[in-house]
Amino acid sequence: MQQSVSRQDFDRWMVPAYSPASFIPDRAEGSRLWDENGKEYIDFAGGIAVNALGHAHPDLQQALQQQAAKLWHTGNGYTNAPILRLAKQLIDATFADRVFFCNSGAEANEAALKLARKYAHEQSGAEKSGIVAFNNAFHGRTLFTVTAGGQPAYSKDFAPLPPAIDHAIFNDLDSAARLINAQTAAVIVEPIQGEGGVVPADPAFLRGLRALCDCHNALLIFDEVQSGVGRTGALYAYMHYGVTPDILSTAKALGGGFPIGAILTTEKLAATLNVGSHGTTYGGNPLAGAVGGKVLELINRPEVLEGVQLRHRWFTDGLNAINQRLRLFKEVRGLGLLIGAVLNEDFSGRAKQISLAAAEEGVMVLIAGANVVRFAPSLIISEQEVKEGLARFERACEALIKGAS
Ligand SMILES: *Cc1c(COP(=O)(O)O)cnc(C)c1O
Repeated sequence: MQQSVSRQDFDRWMVPAYSPASFIPDRAEGSRLWDENGKEYIDFAGGIAVNALGHAHPDLQQALQQQAAKLWHTGNGYTNAPILRLAKQLIDATFADRVFFCNSGAEANEAALKLARKYAHEQSGAEKSGIVAFNNAFHGRTLFTVTAGGQPAYSKDFAPLPPAIDHAIFNDLDSAARLINAQTAAVIVEPIQGEGGVVPADPAFLRGLRALCDCHNALLIFDEVQSGVGRTGALYAYMHYGVTPDILSTAKALGGGFPIGAILTTEKLAATLNVGSHGTTYGGNPLAGAVGGKVLELINRPEVLEGVQLRHRWFTDGLNAINQRLRLFKEVRGLGLLIGAVLNEDFSGRAKQISLAAAEEGVMVLIAGANVVRFAPSLIISEQEVKEGLARFERACEALIKGAS
């Protein structure tokens, strides 16, 4: 007999690093999810931009089950066919010549930053160590990546922090130019700040960073953990912007719900991570490779990527119509299916409250800071589900407004 458990058990048994919703998800299919009591939710959260093909996609189930019956894990003393195939798919689809696999976004950025430092040291000496990052950025929770992230609230309690990491203002090229110099090993930037509020980079800003990096012999790292794998309607956001990084980190949607991360880079830079210089036990695991390969095959198709643009309009038209009536948002922004509805002054600081009201009404949404309601649904969500979910969201907003007055 399995032990019966409840949401309260989280508060008794788990480290209190999270404060999960009051319901416990039980099963899901496509963009619908049911909790233990059978209540249905439409999922606009997508597992935090992870479930890019929705829940329980039949082809992903099949890929996972077939691999699960064959080979789960060997460690990096051996390679395996699924991960080699995924590497080749990524190389064929992007600027990259080489791939390193790991298990999460933070690990991918950790690998990118370590590669950049080692490369700079080998090329130019130990003093070329600087990392330039941006305020409000999010790169993960390891000590290196949380320090690179531009939210001191997440890092200050863990001091002493890794040195030589400076922060410029996002979308302000002059502020970046003041920090990038001969000692800079790398610049790390999200093409769209996700956690930081769904803020797309200006094209000229990314082009300017590319030029500054070239000028100072620094590497440009794009953190595409959230923006990658079709999220913006391009396979990777760098393609949308027409600015190519030296290293790209990818995770979240790459596994469609199965943990995997990777960095993509060039032949020349890849040589830096020579045998023994970096590694992870699970990275390049055949289960992750099999699922990731199927995810990429299904998403990297013109009809799916064009469908993201179409769905972007369903969401922005729907949210703008809600806003016509309710006057909650000062802006609806974002690219593809990474969309942020920014609360106006009257509702400032109440994104979390809206997300709770939304769950009450049967729709799951994300937040990005206290003032932005974030939507990161499945890239293949149906028009009917978008309509139904937005109707529930509208009811939640109405309930909130009523409660407020
Ligand atoms: C989520 C995220 C990360 C961290 O990924 P984890 O898998 O949680 O370690 C890093 N960068 C960006 C842009 C992210 O959105």
